[in-house]
Amino acid sequence: MAKKHNHKRSLVDPPEITLGIDLGGTKILAAVVDEQGRILGEAKRKTRAERGVDDVIERIAKTAQEAVANAHLDMAAIAAVGIGAPGVADHLTGVLEFAPNLPDWTNIPLGMRLQQLLGVPVLVENDVNAGTYGEATAGAARGYGSVVGVFPGTGIGGGIVLDGRLWRGARNAAAEIGHMVVLIDGPQCGCGRRGCIEALASRTAIERDILGEIRGGRSSVVTQWIDVEGEPITSGVLARALEEGDPVVTDVVTRAAYHLGVFTASLVNALDPECIVYGGGLIEACGRFLLPIIRNTTYRYLIRPVAPENLPILEAALGDNAVAIGCAMLASQHVRALQE
Ligand SMILES: [Zn+2]
Repeated sequence: MAKKHNHKRSLVDPPEITLGIDLGGTKILAAVVDEQGRILGEAKRKTRAERGVDDVIERIAKTAQEAVANAHLDMAAIAAVGIGAPGVADHLTGVLEFAPNLPDWTNIPLGMRLQQLLGVPVLVENDVNAGTYGEATAGAARGYGSVVGVFPGTGIGGGIVLDGRLWRGARNAAAEIGHMVVLIDGPQCGCGRRGCIEALASRTAIERDILGEIRGGRSSVVTQWIDVEGEPITSGVLARALEEGDPVVTDVVTRAAYHLGVFTASLVNALDPECIVYGGGLIEACGRFLLPIIRNTTYRYLIRPVAPENLPILEAALGDNAVAIGCAMLASQHVRALQE
């Protein structure tokens, strides 16, 4: 598409190209993205959180510059930057208030620091919020205005988009759906409470339940592949066991999917979104098994019955790029809002 670089920008011009960054506990991913959510160039680096905040911020800036170079652009072509971090971020001040997987990251003015290094406005967002926004604007749920994203993995993250806008809540703490209690006095959750959906249906919870069955005397094919007392039961191992019809893994994952279905129905009963998107490591590996159970259960527990075609429960499409693309799309939306 021909871009009009040599005349003054007017309100009818499309937003410029933006840059999205996914700051994870182990890696940093930066992607230059156009207004359709297509990646023009990207770069990756290890986070190395143990080297401290200043070092990580330098590494983020270098990764961003590399992505821009890989897109054959220079930083002046970037209208805005969005960065998604695994924690509570105040998008108005750009302060990352708290990030459990990044030691020492408390009240870090990440937006301002990066803005100084890159010379471009920087928006800071919670990573799963950004991933959901990515799926809603450029992924599986493109075209839908109201979308709930559910991402089961080590924990369960979520995001809520209502009428095309990311719903951040009154205190930037919305969409912590992994800690919705679905079973009073249920299993202990990492947050210290009991019975959260994360404690019932995350990969970690599934692993705990499989171990419980094996220690209780049931036999599973998984013990032939890995040392279950010392190694994690990864999503890949779960997928293989499901394929072979292992009864222990099948029972435990079926129960987890059922819990997710009841939980999804509660989300729909509260928010009445146009669609739901399921993503994350567990779904990528085992979605073929989990999603039909989640769908069946959800439709059974709705207070107002909806035909499946009118409330699709979709599988995420952007994979590992969802957060970076979502951040870039949020940055783009931010630029547009400033122009209006
Ligand atoms: Zn919890």
